[in-house]
Amino acid sequence: MVAYFTEIYNGLVSLLVGMGITFKEFFKPTVTVAYPYETLTMCARYRGHIELVPDDEGNPRCVVCGLCEKACPSNCISLGGEKPEGGKKKVLTSYVLDFTRCSLCGSCVEACTFGAIDFSKEYNLASRRKEDFIFDLYKRLEERRP
Ligand code: SF4
Ligand code: SF4
Repeated sequence: MVAYFTEIYNGLVSLLVGMGITFKEFFKPTVTVAYPYETLTMCARYRGHIELVPDDEGNPRCVVCGLCEKACPSNCISLGGEKPEGGKKKVLTSYVLDFTRCSLCGSCVEACTFGAIDFSKEYNLASRRKEDFIFDLYKRLEERRP
């Protein structure tokens, strides 16, 4: 009989402790967001996939030196460029990132002394199709052009 009432007493204490914690947490500031209706601004050091950085006119800063392509240990980057008629320097014509192979190591960003690539803040990338992770970064830059 004593064991029976002890069990009820312990159960009640446990319930009250649990309710107390819930009540305390209820009044604490909210640290979550209602994703996907709300999204967070990623912190400065967040590494999303790489992105081409535009100059003041919205053109790629890239000078087609190919250092990032060579620096990538996973062969994720393939880029191309051509000299326009009458021009002296190559201009970028394509920049494709195979994000399925990227380890976000940052070697490409470090290798680029022109500040022409940086990590994006992109994180909303879920897909079942592998092809959705082959990014045409040149096209993406064109789409972002003001
Ligand atoms: S290292 Fe920089 S400038 Fe050179 S190809 Fe890569 S992005 Fe362009
Ligand atoms: S972050 Fe690393 S793995 Fe990804 S593209 Fe750059 S060099 Fe390659």
